[in-house]
Amino acid sequence: MKRLEALRVLADLTSGHPVVVTCAATSRELAAVKDSDNHLYLLDAMGLAGSVATGLALSVPPNAPKVVCIEGDGSLLMNPNVLPTGGYLAPPNLLLVLLDNGVYGSTGALPTYSARVNLARLAEAAAWITRSTDSVEGLRAAFEELCGIDGPAFLYARIEEGNAHDVAKLLIDPVTITTRFSRWLRQEHASEVGA
Ligand SMILES: [Mg+2]
Repeated sequence: MKRLEALRVLADLTSGHPVVVTCAATSRELAAVKDSDNHLYLLDAMGLAGSVATGLALSVPPNAPKVVCIEGDGSLLMNPNVLPTGGYLAPPNLLLVLLDNGVYGSTGALPTYSARVNLARLAEAAAWITRSTDSVEGLRAAFEELCGIDGPAFLYARIEEGNAHDVAKLLIDPVTITTRFSRWLRQEHASEVGA
């Protein structure tokens, strides 16, 4: 499964979810597949997608659509504390999808530790409910299953190395990204906050 194929599935499944996306190629490719107000692209904030998603999951109603984090192996390994933090705080509506290609895909494809460190087992040890897949069909099925389970949930997706070709740079101003995401979130939860 290529990253772009995984992102097509995720874009299709997350139209009603807040989606926090890691930086660089993953954000660019998701925006190329589908750019949407419910996407919070964390440009130049490597390692923080899980942290932002955890905070968000703790701040929206527990029964709201799951906060979906799309993370990469290199980024998660930059801030692996996301795993014990999520397991300890245990927001029920947090779903982290890890797209693991085994390399720092945006910076020359140098290998990450995931070649020898099983990140799904690391999440499991940190009290996340985990599922693993390496196929488009498996990704869709596991995502739908985990949306019905109280989390924190961790969906490990093995993807192929390599970035999609001819994907434009993501040049939306981060202020604009945050503003439109915040507006979308307020509208989604307007009834709960009495807005
Ligand atoms: Mg990677």
